[in-house]
Amino acid sequence: MRILLVEDDKPLSDALSSSLRRVNYVVDCVFSGREALTTLLASQTDILILDLGLPDMDGLEVLRKVRRNAPALPVIILTARDKTTDKILGLDAGADDYLPKPFEIDELLARLRVLERRLGTANSALIQVGKVSLNTQTLELTVDGTPASLPRRELMLLKVLIENAGRIQSKQQLESRLYEWGEEVASNAVEVHIHHVRKKMPKGFIKTVRGVGYCIPVAGA
Ligand code: CA
Repeated sequence: MRILLVEDDKPLSDALSSSLRRVNYVVDCVFSGREALTTLLASQTDILILDLGLPDMDGLEVLRKVRRNAPALPVIILTARDKTTDKILGLDAGADDYLPKPFEIDELLARLRVLERRLGTANSALIQVGKVSLNTQTLELTVDGTPASLPRRELMLLKVLIENAGRIQSKQQLESRLYEWGEEVASNAVEVHIHHVRKKMPKGFIKTVRGVGYCIPVAGA
């Protein structure tokens, strides 16, 4: 299990991450909302632990952005705000759980185990389109029965296309799923990714709809 810990209080971050590592979690620590968003794109995160009071943006804003790209990522909010309204705002913004500070590490560990159990049951998210199958949780990819690998961003591109098989995705839609707002994007980035993904896919798997976007046709559609 890989956890992304977003907590700008360095001593607290250090204490939490060492406790989490002791029970064998892989922990990436970041200290701002911006770093959280870029890290989520660049690495495979299983669970997000998110502090609300961050130096560059509010944790709830981070959470809303995260939810656009990762609707199913388990998120636990940590915060010193313990008013019921804050709790409701957090849960409404898409948090799975909410832990008011100060808390006992054991309680955090117990709540992580709950989320993990939920992940385990959701782990069968296997989508098969023609000869290609992709587990949208683990991102395991097989082509024609053989395991295949792609760089993270290209895998995410393929995931979006497969999840929306039969529907055209515009270049702008794909860009918004692959890159955060403010991130430097070359004008031909999506084309380049598509080109690389296609090399690993069966012939004709991804169709270009000229002037509109890209689509994985589904049989009979
Ligand atoms: Ca804070």
